[in-house]
Amino acid sequence: MAEPITVIGAGLAGSECAHQLARLGHRVVLREQKPEKRSPAHQSPNFAELVCSNSMRSDNPESAIGLLHAELRRVGSLILSAADRQRVPAGDALAVDRELFSADVHAQLSSHPNITIVPGEVLTVPEGTVVFATGPLTSQALTDALAPHVGEKLYFYDAIAPIVATESIDMSIAFRQSRYGKGGGDDYLNLPLTKDEYTHFVEELNAGAKVTPHAFEEPKYFEGCLPIEVMASRGEDTLAYGPMKPVGLRDPRTGLQPHAVVQLRMEDRAGTAWNLVGFQTRLTWPEQKRIFGLIPGLSNADWVRMGQIHRNTFLDSPRLLNPDFSLKNEPRILFAGQITGVEGYVESTACGYLTAMALHARLTGTVFSPPPAGTALGALYRHVTGEAHPEGYRYQPTNVVFALFPPIEGRFKKAEKRVQYAARAVREFDVWAPSAPHPVSPMQTAAPLKVVA
Ligand SMILES: Cc1cc2nc3c(=O)[nH]c(=O)nc-3n(C[C@H](O)[C@H](O)[C@H](O)COP(=O)(O)OP(=O)(O)OC[C@H]3O[C@@H](n4cnc5c(N)ncnc54)[C@H](O)[C@@H]3O)c2cc1C
Repeated sequence: MAEPITVIGAGLAGSECAHQLARLGHRVVLREQKPEKRSPAHQSPNFAELVCSNSMRSDNPESAIGLLHAELRRVGSLILSAADRQRVPAGDALAVDRELFSADVHAQLSSHPNITIVPGEVLTVPEGTVVFATGPLTSQALTDALAPHVGEKLYFYDAIAPIVATESIDMSIAFRQSRYGKGGGDDYLNLPLTKDEYTHFVEELNAGAKVTPHAFEEPKYFEGCLPIEVMASRGEDTLAYGPMKPVGLRDPRTGLQPHAVVQLRMEDRAGTAWNLVGFQTRLTWPEQKRIFGLIPGLSNADWVRMGQIHRNTFLDSPRLLNPDFSLKNEPRILFAGQITGVEGYVESTACGYLTAMALHARLTGTVFSPPPAGTALGALYRHVTGEAHPEGYRYQPTNVVFALFPPIEGRFKKAEKRVQYAARAVREFDVWAPSAPHPVSPMQTAAPLKVVA
């Protein structure tokens, strides 16, 4: 009989991964440090704990996260089915009774004949085939044990700069140019500021409301990755000599070097979104919208993602992992969940599903067929493998957002575009469904989606 697979961590990803493997007939040893040991954010003794909000966000399939819900339901996700059973009213959001939800998942896994649960903290990398699903707060001992296997491509803080949708940037103000014409000469978008605009912006950054770090997050920043407001607090000119330096740039409208610039780097290969270089921040989201909206060219910005800084253990997955989420230099070790660089309860669940499918294919000598790029599952897969990102992209965790999907061509209003994304996802999902190693109910004919296009 084949050796059992070890899954470490019974959070959202580990629970989903163990369930899917067991459902396909594999024996799984599920190792979870709770209840003996808990991270500073975990409190419940049960599996699949929601450490903060009890919401899995919008259930509307015309949003990227709602589409991910719909797809996970169709593939028979343990987490989504428990969430649906333990749902509480929350408008169009999928919110759950967190205690009942975790108890439900715990009971399903504990009673599965193919799953053996072994409690206790894992301190070393186990022998055999092993899936790490230990999450953003992987215990210190295991992080230390993992480090020699992944080298310097294991990160501990997530310093996320905001991302803005291309179509919402005022292109009569922005100009494309690289400093001193380096690289392609026009790789960056630049938003120029006059001295008065810059001074006002720095004042607002200093006065803006910031998020208070959690007790377990001592604000220890790398000097090369300081929050924008920390740099601003060091003196009025610090930013103008740092990420907002204008050297090597000329505004084509004036022929002059601006006083300061905000540089935007392309976020996805298709150029649908741009990130504000060096703008990682602890400003609250409403303050980011207000203060970054003062930047010339961003007054009507449609924010794809806001900036954040928080404790997060994650791998530089595109550089470290094979397309089946195993380590390039040690394929018996695989990863699932937030540790791969996805962000959020549902995204981590989705990653647990994908890792289980990829591992199943390897163990049965079949071909792993990832969901297509236009589906929410496929978009997340392409994020982790790096296919969704331009060359030289500095890998950063993300929620599922439409910027990860191949763009929809043509000019549409925002709401129409969402319908187009969703309609394409439904079509592509149904074409892919028969290649999954388990029965998948089609999107078109199962419980109705709102999508009509
Ligand atoms: C403070 C905080 C607030 C958050 N708020 C939200 C939110 O509101 N909404 C949202 O969508 N996401 C939120 N997230 C992110 C969310 O928690 C993760 O996306 C999700 O839980 C990740 O799933 P996972 O399975 O990868 O990791 P987890 O759910 O964290 O599961 C990892 C499991 O591994 C176990 N483990 C760790 N080390 C070991 C070890 N050495 N041996 C054995 N077991 C081990 C842990 O006990 C845990 O059960 C938050 C995260 C944090 C830290």
